[in-house]
Parts: sequence; C-alpha cells; structure tokens
Amino acid sequence: MRSKLAAEVLAAVRSVTGTVSSIPLHTPVIGETESRFVQECLDTTFVSSVGPFVTRLEQDIAEYTGARHAVAVSSGTVALQVALVLAGVKRGDEVLVPSLSFIATANAVVHAGGVPVFIDSDPTTLGMSPAALTDLLSTMTQQGGNTINPATGRRIAAVVPMHTFGHPLDIRAIVDVAQTHGIAVVEDAAESLGSFIGDKHTGTFGVTGILSFNGNKIVTTGGGGMILTDDPELGRRAKHVTSTAKLPHGWEFEHDEIAWNYRMPNLNAALGVAQVSQLAHFLAQKREIARLYAEAFEHVDGVSFIPEPAGTTSNYWLCAIRLDEPSRETRDELLATLTGDGIQARPFWNLLNTQRMYTTAQTDGLANAEVLVDSVICLPSSAWLLDRKQ
Ligand SMILES: *Cc1c(COP(=O)(O)O)cnc(C)c1O
Repeated sequence: MRSKLAAEVLAAVRSVTGTVSSIPLHTPVIGETESRFVQECLDTTFVSSVGPFVTRLEQDIAEYTGARHAVAVSSGTVALQVALVLAGVKRGDEVLVPSLSFIATANAVVHAGGVPVFIDSDPTTLGMSPAALTDLLSTMTQQGGNTINPATGRRIAAVVPMHTFGHPLDIRAIVDVAQTHGIAVVEDAAESLGSFIGDKHTGTFGVTGILSFNGNKIVTTGGGGMILTDDPELGRRAKHVTSTAKLPHGWEFEHDEIAWNYRMPNLNAALGVAQVSQLAHFLAQKREIARLYAEAFEHVDGVSFIPEPAGTTSNYWLCAIRLDEPSRETRDELLATLTGDGIQARPFWNLLNTQRMYTTAQTDGLANAEVLVDSVICLPSSAWLLDRKQ
C-alpha cells in the first residue's frame, strides 16, 4: 500500500513531467547544429585530438566562465587528477574532499598520488561545510609553511570543494580557511557549468578548477572535461602534460617529461561547441523546471524542494527534494514509488568513506552528510522535460 506521502510526491512530480510513461533522470538535447559540426569533423577527417573545434571549445568555455585558461581533456575525472597535480599535490599528500560526492572526486585524488580525507557537508548548500573544514584544520599542525596531519605525519596539500547538483557552495569561506593554512583549493565544478556566485563562475575561485562534459551533465561532449585556471603557467602546463609533453618542433619527437595523453578528440569538441551554443537555453529551461517543482512541492507536507543557496545562481543541473524527517525507509519508499511509475529518481551517492576502497580513510564526524544521504532525492531534470510533456 502506497503511503499518503508517496502518493503526493508522485502526483507532484507527475504535475511537472506529464504522463509520459518513462522519464529519465537526465539526458541531453542533441540538435541540428550538433549533427552539422560532427559531420564537419568527418568530412574534413579531423576526428582525433587535433582540430579547430578543440580550440573553439576551450575559447568558448574560457569566455563563458571568465577563466583565463581552459584546457579540454577526455573526462572530468582526468581533468581533476591533472588539476590536483598542477595545484601541487605530490605522492603521499593528503587531500580534503567532501564525503558526499561522486566517486570520481576521491578517485582523482588517488590517481594524482594523494590520499583522500573526507569532510562533512553543509545542510543548506549540500557542498563541503566551511565549519567542518575549519574544525578539522584546527587539529592540524604547522611545519615550515606546511599543514601536517599529526595522526599520519602527512602534508595536507589541497582541498576539493564540489558544487553539488550545480548549487554553488560557500566557496569564499572555503578559500579563506584554505589560504590561512597554505592549502590549495581545487574546485570540482563538474556539475556546475552555468552556476555563479554573484557574477563569478564556479570553478574559477581555486588555483585550478574542472568541468565535466559527460553525457549526463548540463552540456555534453559525449565524454570530456575541462581544466580551468587563471594562472598562465598552470594553463600552459595543463595543455603540455595532457598532450604527452611534446616539445614543439617541425619533425622531432622530443618530450620533456612523462606525461599523459588526455586530449579531447575534435569529434567530441565539435559536439561540445554546438552544446555550449545552447547553454543559455538549457539554463532557462532548467530554471523553469525548478520553478515548477518548487511550486508543486509547496503543497506537499513532509518534503521540500531544495532551492539554490541565497546569493548564488544555480544551473539547476539536477532538481532535488529533501525529507523534512530524514529516514532511509521513507526515502526508499519514495524511490520505489517513483521508479515503479517509470520516473527515474535517484538518491544521493553513498558516502565515499563507505565505498569499500575508502573504508579505512580518515573522516571527520560527517553528521550532516549522513542525514543528507537519508533525506535527498533527485528528480528528472533534462532540459527537454517541458517540451515533451504530454
Ligand atoms: C561527473 C562528475 C565528475 C567526473 O566527470 P567524468 O567526466 O564523468 O569523468 C567528477 N565529479 C563530480 C562531482 C561529478 O559529478
């Protein structure tokens, strides 16, 4: 038997999605421009890692985000790995990451040679809690300009705030605390292309930042990512180390370090350039979807729509609701009801420190994150949602 709450939540979601039988969580909008640009790659045979669309996508993203340098790579995960290395993470360094994030946030730290330490979230922004970060850092010691974790003897090199579902977190507070301790900020803005704090784009507050263009993000290149930085030397290095560190020469193959081939193929960039040209439209659609969900859930007792944090502009990549009374049982009942009706709804990720690879990692209390996991549900949020309503 369906509870009153489940029935009301289903009705509220259906009032936005219409009666279409199967509604995915998030899928892209691919139009005529995408076909034309990808066809252009095929026609010119520029399908691989060199080509005009790669440069164009980098320029478009730099211009849109205000980052001085944007370097296209093959995924958000490798973008984050390289962004961490460029920010100074060395083998054996600790990196502070939110426990409430997609697995890539922690994996990229390990790929960069680091060791993740998991931090609690803020219940309002859903991002890393500046208070929890401050508390954790107050237990660390200073040694020769470095912040050392007395429990492990390791240096803490970086902190990775992540803008959850596109909602900007309190990045200025994080940057302030990190600066006091001489720790680099590397922003995981994988989900937040189109999200701003004032008029400054997310991903441009740290020494480096990254975007993802995976198929489920607001803008897709099929698979891909972008490294953002204002530092000209880091911008140059980002390009160099993600493209085999080859020295420019007419014919010689000379490389000056062991680097990666993380280049984004021109085919993918072509898709991305077409997608970015639609970004303003996607953002407007998503804002309208968010407005409709907010309105629909105003009248449902027991759950609330999660709005963009005050003073920020979210891209509303994924719209989400939260239970007023956190409960794994109620959460799962709502997920089962929605899923059973053909609506792809999803919970938060499992806390990263509960994933089997990370169970021995150091964490702070994670009191808020544990509550959030039991109370948040993501709803269908594709930019086309209102167009195909029946
Ligand atoms: C999507 C995502 C990534 C990784 O991006 P990929 O392009 O899928 O490798 C990293 N962090 C977060 C928070 C993400 O949502």
